[in-house]
Amino acid sequence: MKAEIMGIGTELLMGELTDTNSSWIASRLPALGIELQWVSIIGDDLPRLTEAFKRGMERSDIIFSTGGLGPTQDDLTREAVAAAFGETPTIQQEVVDNLERYFAARGTPMPQHNIKQANLIPSARFVPNRNGTAPGWWAERDGKIVICLPGPPGENQSMWEEQVEPQLAELVNDEVTITRNIKTMGLSEGAVDEIISEFFGVDNPYLGIYSKADGIHLRVIARARDSQSAQKMIMPVEQAIHDRLGEYIWGYDDETPEQAAGKSLLEKGLSVAVMEMCTGGALTNSITDGPDSMSYFKGGNVAYDAAALEACGVPAEVMEKHGVVSQQTANAMADTVRRNLNADLGVAVTGVPGPGEFEGKPLGLAYISVTNGEKTREMEMRLPPRRVTIKRRVPNQALIELRRLVEETG
Ligand code: ATP
Ligand code: MG
Repeated sequence: MKAEIMGIGTELLMGELTDTNSSWIASRLPALGIELQWVSIIGDDLPRLTEAFKRGMERSDIIFSTGGLGPTQDDLTREAVAAAFGETPTIQQEVVDNLERYFAARGTPMPQHNIKQANLIPSARFVPNRNGTAPGWWAERDGKIVICLPGPPGENQSMWEEQVEPQLAELVNDEVTITRNIKTMGLSEGAVDEIISEFFGVDNPYLGIYSKADGIHLRVIARARDSQSAQKMIMPVEQAIHDRLGEYIWGYDDETPEQAAGKSLLEKGLSVAVMEMCTGGALTNSITDGPDSMSYFKGGNVAYDAAALEACGVPAEVMEKHGVVSQQTANAMADTVRRNLNADLGVAVTGVPGPGEFEGKPLGLAYISVTNGEKTREMEMRLPPRRVTIKRRVPNQALIELRRLVEETG
């Protein structure tokens, strides 16, 4: 089944908004055995949108679109699909009732403009949206399928997972593609490559290696007639990666460092506190992205100079002797915040974020410390001299070290 995706909205064409919806949908298609052939971005313009849907129905079996389902004048997706199908939309009373209930629950009357969200053509049915006002459309004619979802990822992703994907899985029975992503930290790309070299260069299962802000990722991709057979092809490669790189693996698939650390903390019933210097709150921000972080995160301090660190309880002698940016200070920070906030573990980062050197130490130098009071994991990092890189990579590494120590903590 050949597919295309359309990101709809003038904001996307202006470069003001990045089309993450299309890449998200693209990432879901291989496992369904749907072959993506085109991705386009189209502005809020009725003739161009209509043309895009018409052309899509000529060259693809299935078209996915996101955006343009809102109530405003420039939301034109429904109108364009209707024009491409040559059909006239009519208002569906049950959807008007739903919309009225949605607004009543929020204590406001429904704006009249929202009525257009209740429009439907004979060839389409609604895809309900429990997080917003705009229902999607699933339209079908002459063997072609057009699926229109609203723009906000918080709406279209749950619609996809709960409704679109299960229905597509029933329709498609071509080859499926299964992907397993294994995430490591601590070895260079070259070292990882060497350790599992015999698996590269094979077409199916294919092994790819990628360097990311949270380490070296290995992606195994297998194609087969059903997912069980594809899983079987992945297994020996995954096993070998485990046997040879086990201690460096910190996560799988979509897992982020904060999710991996959070999961370990939750499983062990342990808590953590943070003190950060060069990352300005980025580590705390990552930790609190975890949906269950209230169960394991105690809190923390952001302190950007020696006086502030001292006010947070870090002994001045340590900083005077070794400098603010040192392993010893990182260790003192981690232990101080762990005790002050009565947490099981403390994590600290200190480093030189720029613009230039600090204490005679180079921009990009950073130290991480994670402690449980008995054991401490220490790490020195030398990063490219860019503030954004430091703020992204130091928290990732600290979270992976945290996860490692949690796994070792009884
Ligand atoms: P709404 O009812 O919210 O207006 P809509 O279906 O009309 O929904 P748009 O108006 O096109 O959607 O976009 C609404 C918001 O959804 C955008 O401001 C943006 O935050 C997000 N969004 C839209 N398209 C994309 C996209 N392709 N990738 C990521 N986010 C998007
Ligand atoms: Mg809109």
